[in-house]
Amino acid sequence: MEWEATIGLEVHVQLLTRSKLFSGAATAYGASPNSQACSVDLGLPGTLPVLNKEAVMMAIRLGLAIDATVNLHSVFARKNYFYPDLPKGYQISQNEYPIVGHGYLTIDLEEGGSKQISIIRAHLEEDAGKSLHEDFSDATLIDLNRAGVPLIEIVSAPEMSSAKEAVAYLKKLHALVCYLEICDGNLQEGSFRCDANVSVRPKGRTQLGTRTETKNINSFRFVERAINYEIQRQTAVLAAGGTISQQTRLYNPDRDETYVMRDKEDANDYRYFPDPDLLPLELTAGEIEAVRAQLPELPQQKQQRFIQQYDLNLYDANLLTASRAAADYFEQVCHTFKNPKMAANWINGELAAALNKENLNISQSPIQAESLAMLLTRIEDGTISSKIAKEVFAALWEGLGSTDEIIEQKGLRQVTDSAAILAAIDQVIQDNPAQLAEYRAGKDRLLGFFVGQVMKATQGKANPAQLNALLLEKLKEPASHD
Ligand code: MN
Repeated sequence: MEWEATIGLEVHVQLLTRSKLFSGAATAYGASPNSQACSVDLGLPGTLPVLNKEAVMMAIRLGLAIDATVNLHSVFARKNYFYPDLPKGYQISQNEYPIVGHGYLTIDLEEGGSKQISIIRAHLEEDAGKSLHEDFSDATLIDLNRAGVPLIEIVSAPEMSSAKEAVAYLKKLHALVCYLEICDGNLQEGSFRCDANVSVRPKGRTQLGTRTETKNINSFRFVERAINYEIQRQTAVLAAGGTISQQTRLYNPDRDETYVMRDKEDANDYRYFPDPDLLPLELTAGEIEAVRAQLPELPQQKQQRFIQQYDLNLYDANLLTASRAAADYFEQVCHTFKNPKMAANWINGELAAALNKENLNISQSPIQAESLAMLLTRIEDGTISSKIAKEVFAALWEGLGSTDEIIEQKGLRQVTDSAAILAAIDQVIQDNPAQLAEYRAGKDRLLGFFVGQVMKATQGKANPAQLNALLLEKLKEPASHD
């Protein structure tokens, strides 16, 4: 039998507010434990939550950016459960009436084309504290700095059919919340966390199989692996005639497998009810339109602008707008260097490869945009060839000086002196009489051999266009001593 997988994702995005969702305590990451938890976050009796307006504005921004309905009326509800890092005994979330309703995100498929993924809802809620299982102690320690940090939880429909699609969706969403400046996008610090719902069913059946939820995966690579592991595990169980039980699971990256955390509770186990300490959140259409007017340029719009303004193809425009940092870098290069296609080639080629190799993102690039612009300028004005430019690029990457300093220090200036190039050509021709005879007898492809030899003789510095023209001329001439 053939099987097919269905994936839905729930993403928790930490909002970039300075204070918490219902208290004035700070949200900065990395503070010493329990130094940023006030009486509201601790759930002390007699305290009352006060809603953070900035978090609401950020939720509206997200809603508008995914073309969703932003609900004028939404309600905060208590989600009741016990956990040591949840001192109130409930999490303030939204249940029946979330702030953001139905929207969608368009992802690019690896095989080409695109696919629209529905977003069912997005709601505001507070984060829980952290349980720390430290090596030096048998006890579990509790840090409540994270308790009350604002989150927006974004729930997709089960519309992805492979781990690759799920990762494409996550990357798209990650770029979007960074563009919107509502999240710092830091996966290691837990600012963007994913729960993956995976089920498998016989191919063609309409009803979905029983799903498992793998929680709190905080890297794109791990999401892909965890989903693939679940698809394989579930398929094997079903193919052997077994059944899948609805479970919450965790992913262990060291063993590259998921394992059971607990049997999944249903929503009614949480005894949701409207929080009596908070009024329903009422917005006006005017408030929403005011936020819309302030929206920054979004990835899709930027991509279209790049195609028009810089005459880029869709492929380059896509890569360059995949993150806001890459787009900004490109535009900075183009500010002084006026050949956008060449700038795109270098950023998506040489620079991307170097960054990948060192696992850096573009904002951590050792080569600043101005510096790359200068390197490209030196190719365009003929000071260096594009081949030599790669050597200069490597030196720039190592921090060995500016483009011009490196060119001078290493003597990399391109040879454009015809006499010097001709001398090298004459020498090569003289040294290779057999190849010369073959070439003149009609073996045209030996031209490449001669170009290579002359380049070698000039340490790669001969101007390629000049070299080609002069060499063709010389190879044509009959030898003078005939
Ligand atoms: Mn949640």
